[in-house]
Amino acid sequence: MEIFGANVFNDAIMKECLPKNTYKALRKTIDEGSTLDPAVADVVANAMKDWAIEKGATHFTHWFQPLTGVTAEKHDAFISPTKDGKVIMEFSGKELIKGEPDASSFPNGGIRSTFEARGYTAWDCTSPAFVREDAGVVTLCIPTAFCSYTGEALDRKTPLLRSMEALSKQAIRLLRLFGNTESNRVISTVGPEQEYFLIDKSFYLERTDLILTGRTLFGAPAPKGQELEDHYFGSISERIAAYMQDVNVELWKLGIPAKTQHKEVAPGQYEIAPIFTTTNIATDHNQLIMETLQKVAVRHGLVCLLHEKPFAGVNGSGKHNNWSISTDNGINLLEPGKTPHQNAQFLTFLCAVIKAVDEYSELLRLSASNTGNDHRLGANEAPPAIISIFLGDQLSDIMKQLRNGGPKSSIQGGQLEIGVSTLPTLPKDSTDRNRTSPFAFTGNKFEFRMVPSSLSISGPNVVLNTIVAETVSLIADRLEKAQDFNADLKALLKEIATNHARILFDGNGYSEEWIEEAERRGLPHLRSTVEAIPTLLKEKTIKLYEKHGVLNETELHSRYEIDLEQYSKSINIEALTTLDMAQRQILPAAIKYATNLAKSINTVKAAYAEAEVSAQTDLLKEASSLISALKQNIDKLQTVTKQAQEVTDAYAQAVFYRDQVFTTMGEVRQAADQLEGIVDANLWPIPTYSEMLFKL
Ligand code: ADP
Ligand code: MG
Repeated sequence: MEIFGANVFNDAIMKECLPKNTYKALRKTIDEGSTLDPAVADVVANAMKDWAIEKGATHFTHWFQPLTGVTAEKHDAFISPTKDGKVIMEFSGKELIKGEPDASSFPNGGIRSTFEARGYTAWDCTSPAFVREDAGVVTLCIPTAFCSYTGEALDRKTPLLRSMEALSKQAIRLLRLFGNTESNRVISTVGPEQEYFLIDKSFYLERTDLILTGRTLFGAPAPKGQELEDHYFGSISERIAAYMQDVNVELWKLGIPAKTQHKEVAPGQYEIAPIFTTTNIATDHNQLIMETLQKVAVRHGLVCLLHEKPFAGVNGSGKHNNWSISTDNGINLLEPGKTPHQNAQFLTFLCAVIKAVDEYSELLRLSASNTGNDHRLGANEAPPAIISIFLGDQLSDIMKQLRNGGPKSSIQGGQLEIGVSTLPTLPKDSTDRNRTSPFAFTGNKFEFRMVPSSLSISGPNVVLNTIVAETVSLIADRLEKAQDFNADLKALLKEIATNHARILFDGNGYSEEWIEEAERRGLPHLRSTVEAIPTLLKEKTIKLYEKHGVLNETELHSRYEIDLEQYSKSINIEALTTLDMAQRQILPAAIKYATNLAKSINTVKAAYAEAEVSAQTDLLKEASSLISALKQNIDKLQTVTKQAQEVTDAYAQAVFYRDQVFTTMGEVRQAADQLEGIVDANLWPIPTYSEMLFKL
């Protein structure tokens, strides 16, 4: 209790150290979105500085989220020289509100070039400032948005804040129609579950692929994988428990309510989940969770891997984005209550989500795409690349009733008898769980399960907020004109339940049949990141984002360019790393092994002419043919990588990287992994899967 939030300039601290009027004015901005008075900023800055210095801070930084996928910071000391050769510690309102990083050095998709480079960071007072301790160095971090000199968003926070405002505006319209006059804002809330791997640092340092790309580009499967299902929820070793507790303490100090931790399905895989909060803060917190997981690991001689697929053959990592919407006075709009069939307001918001997900499923799919996730979506460990919604028995039944005229009843869960008299009778949920659905209703929220483990959750939530703002606005348009509210609402819900029934699917999302069925239903199936990216430039997308003021056409074009560029660049890095390791580590080891075999044959034969050397000869034959296959594939990879770099059109280039470079990397790996299976373990130059996954 004492350490929770100790490093956060939170509401309690602000109340304590700000003059009453300043506190009130700031609160008004945070709660109601009113514009901040610069005079207020000066007072806040001064209080923030005193608080941070007391914590040992020497520097401050604007902390922002450019389109690199990681956070960015530039530290400035508080010092300001005085005439007598000394310094005083200063921090002005201007420095709090605005920073000026060079925008051309961050991904900007052509919006900023080096000769017109200016960009700004702007204080986001809705996410509290905090101090971070890095090996005793304390820095005041101010969450900020980042935009170009011309006002376009160059980060992940700006569109998120805009989408939250859009959703709030539309949802309030709808609430008023239902007679709600108390709520003033509607807030989307998120609780992201974060998966990650831990390996011993000594192995990591010997793997160029892990260091440069975050995943293993080589590695034969270990004799044991996850088939015994003994890792999931298994008991946590002392070393990992100590690590997890260290992580928790760091997060609690930052005011992040880290709550749940457990072992995940794959060997070496774990999960952490905080308690949900406002989407904007949850997004900042998730970035801090990822950073903290990585930093603290090093202290324990470990490395935390956040990549979606660090190891082939065992499960990869994702993030479950639990999303809901609630009012500023605490009403969860996706809470069905005991008898959802009588809860018209809930059913209306539910229908808005269903319609939104069906109409904009491609945008949602895109928001969960990156090179790492291409290894997972559609493979039998993560949801398929097709978006569908799981509602469960109770709500599916109500949707059916809606289609048939009007809901009259709600299926109830009842009691679960375990059959042992000493065990309690358990109240049963009204519906079972479905782990295979990409978008599942889980009681009072939706769980979007496609999100990549390393990606900011901003993107998926921008999409969710915006598409739901859109469908809510269309519903409000209709109902505001209603002659007979109840009759019109009933007709509208029937229409949505009928027109969007195709997106509802409660069955096994991992099955072949579902892929065929989804195709029959006409649901989009975007198999890879590259296929999903052009969704950004569709007329429908531009119209949607412009209508709600979330992203304009220029910003969408810039994001399209950045996405393609980042895809191509990351595959290029993987290809060059593959070549580096194959040529300088794996091939030489294999040749040495073949030479040893040849030497053995000669030596043995020289010592005893009649000696049986067929084992060595067979092995030599096998090794030599794999070596030549490896070399051929290396040459091929070299050629296609060079060709890829010469393709000028960004989209064509990404396609080439996917179809040629990525595929050839797999061929290089295949020969290398086969060699790993026969080459003398003492000669093998890189740590194996058995070591990395099990020696912890
Ligand atoms: P699971 O059974 O899906 O693994 P967890 O307990 O690991 O569930 O995670 C559930 C997450 O959902 C938590 O982060 C929790 O805070 C979050 N959550 C609960 N209610 C809401 C809500 N109304 N809005 C957003 N997230 C929520
Ligand atoms: Mg979980």
